[in-house]
Amino acid sequence: MITTSQTTRRPARADTMLPREEMLTALRERDRSYDGLFYAAVTTTGIFCRPSCPARDPKPDHVEFYATTREALVAGFRPCRRCRPLDPEAGTPEWASRLIARVEADPAARITDASLRAEGLDPAAVRRWFQKTHGMTFQAYCRARRLGEPAANLSGGQQQMLALARALMLAPKILLVDEPSVGLAPLLVARTIDAIKQLKDHYHLTVLMAEQNFTQAIRIADRGYVIVHGKIAFEGRSADELNNNDLIRQFYLGM
Ligand SMILES: [Zn+2]
Repeated sequence: MITTSQTTRRPARADTMLPREEMLTALRERDRSYDGLFYAAVTTTGIFCRPSCPARDPKPDHVEFYATTREALVAGFRPCRRCRPLDPEAGTPEWASRLIARVEADPAARITDASLRAEGLDPAAVRRWFQKTHGMTFQAYCRARRLGEPAANLSGGQQQMLALARALMLAPKILLVDEPSVGLAPLLVARTIDAIKQLKDHYHLTVLMAEQNFTQAIRIADRGYVIVHGKIAFEGRSADELNNNDLIRQFYLGM
C-alpha cells in the first residue's frame, strides 16, 4: 500500500480484504479503480502485480491476494516489471522514487546509512517514510527485496535459512519448522538446529518442529512427542525424560 502525501491510508488488514471473487473479476477486467486495494501474486511465476496490470492473465488457481506490498514481498514474491507495484504513486518525494529505483536496479546491493548520508539523505527520515508508506523500515524493505530474489542458486542449508528469515519477517509468536534437517550435510544439521534454538531464544518464539533426527532435535526441545502412524506414542516433558526412556531408545531409535 502506497500512501500519498495528501492522504494517510493505513495498510489494509487481511481480514478486511475484498471477497476473492470480486478481486478475481477486478483482475480479469484490469480494473484500475482497484489499484492500491490489493495486490495479486502468481504462484507459478513468483511475481506480484497491481490489479490493473496489462501483462498477464493468470489461472485463478495460481493467484494469491495480498492487502499490501509488504505482505506480498514477505511471502517471497517479486514485483512485476510491467506494472511495477512498488513504484511510488503521485505525491512521493523525488528522493524516495530515486531510492526505490536504486533498490530495484540491484536488490542484492547493501545500502548503508553511510551511503544514504553520502547522497544527502537522513537515514532516520528515510526509515520513517518507508515505515509510513510501506509498513516497514527501509532496511526491512531492502531485506524483503533481497529475499524475494530467486533462491534457485542456494544450497539446502541456505534455503532453510531463507525460509526461516521470511517467516521471521512477519514477527510470529509461533514458528512451525518442518524437517529442517532434510537434505542437509550432518555438520549443517547441528548448525541449523542450533540456529533455530537461537532464534527461539532471541525472538521469544514458541517453536513446533517436526524432525526425524531425534538426537539433534532433543538437544533444543523443552518437550517432545514421538508420533507413530499419526498418533502420539510417547510424550516427554523434558529432554532427559525422552532421552532416557528405554522404550523409545529400543523401539524407535534403535539404540
Ligand atoms: Zn504486473
